[in-house]
Parts: sequence; C-alpha cells; structure tokens
Amino acid sequence: MQTDLDRIKNFIDGKFIEPIGGKYLDNIEPATGKPYSQVPDSDSRDVELAVSAAEKAFGDWSKKPVADRSKILLRVADLIERDTEKLARAESIDTGKPLSLARNLDIPRAASNFRFFATAILHTESEAHITDNVAFNYTLRQPRGIAGLISPWNLPLYLLSWKIAPAIAVGNTAIAKPSELTPVTAFLLCELCREAGLPNGVLNIVHGTGPNVGAPITAHPKITTISFTGGTVTGKKVAEACAPLFKKVSLELGGKNPNIIFADADLEAAITGSVRSSFANQGQVCLCGSRVFVERSAYKDFVSCFLEKVSKLKSGDPLDEKTEQGAIVSKTQLDKVKFYVELAKKEGGHILLGGKAPAPINDRCRDGYFFPPTVIADLPVCCRTNREEIFGPLVTITPFDNEEEVIGYANDCEYGLASSVWTQNLNRAHRVAERINTGTVWVNCWLVRDLRVPFGGMKQSGVGREGGEEALRFFTEPKNICIAK
Ligand code: NDP
Repeated sequence: MQTDLDRIKNFIDGKFIEPIGGKYLDNIEPATGKPYSQVPDSDSRDVELAVSAAEKAFGDWSKKPVADRSKILLRVADLIERDTEKLARAESIDTGKPLSLARNLDIPRAASNFRFFATAILHTESEAHITDNVAFNYTLRQPRGIAGLISPWNLPLYLLSWKIAPAIAVGNTAIAKPSELTPVTAFLLCELCREAGLPNGVLNIVHGTGPNVGAPITAHPKITTISFTGGTVTGKKVAEACAPLFKKVSLELGGKNPNIIFADADLEAAITGSVRSSFANQGQVCLCGSRVFVERSAYKDFVSCFLEKVSKLKSGDPLDEKTEQGAIVSKTQLDKVKFYVELAKKEGGHILLGGKAPAPINDRCRDGYFFPPTVIADLPVCCRTNREEIFGPLVTITPFDNEEEVIGYANDCEYGLASSVWTQNLNRAHRVAERINTGTVWVNCWLVRDLRVPFGGMKQSGVGREGGEEALRFFTEPKNICIAK
C-alpha cells in the first residue's frame, strides 16, 4: 500500500480523525487506474465513536429553532456553490465522470438539496383531527434520533446530500457512509459544514467498506433510521439487518428502466432524450433507460439516427472540458460491462455500436477504465441481458408492434424504478403511464427532477419514497396527541 498519498479522514464530533484501527484503502482514479489518495478502512469502533458524538449532539440540535437550523443549512448550500469548481473537479477525478457533468449536474444539485430542505422545514404543516365533542387530536412530528445514511458511488455528493439535508434539517443527527470508491466530496463537504457553523456531532462521516462500516451502521441499535441507496443485493442485506431491530428503513435500489418510443413521438426529441437517458454518466445513473423499445414502423429510422448521434458522443479524459463520456468507476464495474457484452452475444444479440475496449485516449488515461457507448439489438426481451442491471454504457434496443405488447415488455422485469414514454398522443401517454409499474414515469422527457415529488422504486427497486414531504415524514416520528374536550 502506498503511504505518500493524501489521506482522507473520518469526520466525527466536528473533528477530522484517523480511523481507530489505523488502516487505509487506496482510492483509485478511474481515468488512470492509479491510486491517488487513501480512504480510511474504518470499522465498528469508528461507528461507535460516531454514535457517541451523534447522541451527544442530538439534544441541542433537535431543540434548536427551525429558523436557526435552516440558516445553517442555507450557508452549507452557499458554500457548496462557492466551491463548485473545486468540488466538481474532485467528483470528476474520483468517479471518472466528465468534469462538465459534475459542474452542471452533481454539484448544483447538492447545493439545491440543502437549500430545498432548509426552506422546506420553514413551511411544514401538521394535521389536526377533531373527534366529535370528545377530543382534539394533533400530530406532532419529532426527529427520530440518529439517522444512518449509506450511499453509492455513481452520484456521490448528489445522493449523499439528498439524505443528509432532510435528515438533519428536521433535527436528527446523522452518521453517513459514502462509497469507499468515491469518498472525496463527502470529505470536502465536512469542511464546508464546519465553516457553515454546523454544531459538532450533527453530521459524522465514517469512511470504509460496506461490510466494515455499512453493516455496523445498519446493525447498531441506537441508529434507528436507515436511508440506503445502492444495489438490490446489498439492499436485501440492509433490510435483513434492520428488520429484527424494527428500524425505519428507506431503500432506493437498482433499476432496469424501459424507454419506450412510439412512432407518433417527436422523433428528434426522442432520439436526443434517449441518447442522454442511455449514456449519461456512462450509463451509471440508476434512472438510465437501459432497455429501449421502439415501435416497429419507426424502428429503422430511429435506430439509424440514434446510432449516428451516439457515435458522435465525445469519449475522453474526464478532465477535458469537451468530454461527454468519461471513465467507468472501477475495474470491477468495467469487467461487469464486458461480461454482459459477451453474454449478450451468446444470447443472440448483435452489437450495433461499441462493444469492445477503445484505444487509449491519451498517455495519462492509458490504464483507465474506459468502455464505449454500446448498443445491442435482436435480443429476446426475457434474456438475462434484458433483465439484469448492468449499470454501464450498454443499452439494448427492441422493436414492438403495439401498446399492449410494449407495456408487457416494460413490466416483464423484476425492477420498477423509472421509465420514459415518448408519444404525442396525450391519451396514450396517460394510458401507458398508468400501467407501467415504475415509481417514476417520464413522458417526453428524462431526468426532469422536481425535488418536491415522491421518488423511489417499485418491486425490486426499493421500498419507501424520498423527496419533498416524503423525506420530511420519513425522517420524523408522527406522534398523536389526543386532548379530551
Ligand atoms: P452497493 O449496493 O454495492 O453499495 C451501496 C453502498 O452500500 C456503498 O456505500 C457500499 O459500501 C454499502 N454497502 C455494501 N455492503 C453493505 C452492507 N452489508 N451493509 C450496509 N452497507 C453496505 O451499490 P453500488 O455502490 O455498486 O452502487 C450502484 C447501485 O446503486 C446500482 O444498483 C444502482 O442502481 C443503485 N442506485 C440506486 C439509486 C436509486 O435511487 N434507486 C440511485 C443510484 C444508484 P462500499 O461499496 O463502499 O463497500
């Protein structure tokens, strides 16, 4: 293990500290395949320390006037905006995503998350129920205590702040664990929280692996609320750990999202939207539409225009301003994509574009984890390539003959996170949206995100909803106070 690399530290009780065990993991830059920093390989002792800090901070923080909590969170949002360039660069280096994407999507969204929940808590309402002449009830929503927040590597600061902001806005304290693959922006956020005046112990970040840090968080009896975003297999483990302790759990899991294009769609808009929904962040967005279905009468035209547009996406060094396709996050993820390309071939698929590792982009990126946007046709709808989440720059494309058939295709999958429907027929849009079993259905758009809407998945894509009022409710305990008249 190299020791001369910059070392990230845990953030516990307002201080940056070494992991108790003194162990570190190399943090690899995906674009180069080389370690460039080190991340604590923490364990349950560090989680225990964070629990003590969070427990100690809870009393004051939960009683702080809402307006005071709001001001601190708004300052965090402002500081994220002030440091956009630094954070975007860090996110790009850590994940392999294009710098422009981090600058225009990830970091602004992290600031919006803080601002949204900082102001949402100023406008909450509570229910009252009058029981005839007998009693008057009102609902008191109180913070639940310590929240455990576990997030993945694909949108590191975006997703972690989506959990931290509502959790602490309503008065909880939090222990967060970013993915060990992409820890840097979480580390930088801690400095900003300190600068914003967030009291010690309100937010604690413990870095390390799922088994050594994630599992102790989910198993800790004092961490009573768990918000998890990640893969479905890990989500099952989290659910198993939380069930016997009756924790309140939100699980945002994997997806295999259908993207349906009817022949009556505005094809130009559908093609532009589909290029984005297929390959944004190298296909590593849980909401990416990895199964493209096109009505047969438009199939030929769609495919040729789609391929032409995809082939023009500029792959390159993530730090190059012009790059539209960066690196895959890790060697493991790259190998997974390659595995599915081979599997698709065995399953009868024809590679229309991409499918094999590209020539080195430049000397710096010679050993990086790059794979080109890949489009595969002629696969049966029910094959493994069409059913299993790949989470990379690989989409399948399949023709269909009518509405009934494509609804069946869309729902023939154990996931149910999101879908897109492209049509100019309003009645059809309503009909299809109603029957597709996904938590979000986009009509004539993709990744339009209003932070007030409920967000989450059906089937194997998760349990519970986050976003807006749903998040405020999730992170609070509703108590009924019943007063006799
Ligand atoms: P993982 O499920 O592998 O990991 C998610 C997080 O859980 C990581 O921080 C990981 O730690 C941690 N973890 C691993 N094992 C455990 C455990 N036993 N107990 C508690 N925590 C654990 O997902 P990926 O990081 O690979 O992310 C990709 C997945 O996330 C995809 O399936 C994608 O669809 C999904 N996702 C879902 C979204 C949604 O909103 N529904 C949004 C974005 C992504 P570490 O990896 O550091 O060891």
